[in-house]
Amino acid sequence: MSDCLFCKIIAGEVPSTKVYEDDSVYAFLDIAPQAPEHIVFVPKTHIGSANEITAENSAVVGKIFEAAAKVAKERGFAEKGYRIVNNCGEDGGQTVGHLHFHLLAGRNLQWPPG
Ligand code: AMP
Ligand code: ZN
Repeated sequence: MSDCLFCKIIAGEVPSTKVYEDDSVYAFLDIAPQAPEHIVFVPKTHIGSANEITAENSAVVGKIFEAAAKVAKERGFAEKGYRIVNNCGEDGGQTVGHLHFHLLAGRNLQWPPG
């Protein structure tokens, strides 16, 4: 966990552009945006991936979606629409081993993803 990039971002040891923060959730701009708006939401406690969501820690996932809805309204793209994505594991395209949800908006997103 001490080696976890997103834990370091949450702790302020690695810089990030903060978009949202509360007791259990932190959100920041993605360093390599895939859309005009690309924000990463993470639980402040380390959860490795969606595979590690349990009855004990799953409440924070609801908090993340609540935060994303708030941010979408604040940043003005709630009406137009957006996508929330979680990549899990190798085939899912996960590159950072700390549970996170991408919030993408600001362009017409294609389906299915690659
Ligand atoms: P994933 O590929 O789903 O694991 O997503 C990891 C995301 O973290 C990618 O979209 C990266 O661009 C983003 N990322 C990696 N390092 C940083 C960083 N230092 N600050 C902000 N975003 C980052
Ligand atoms: Zn972590």
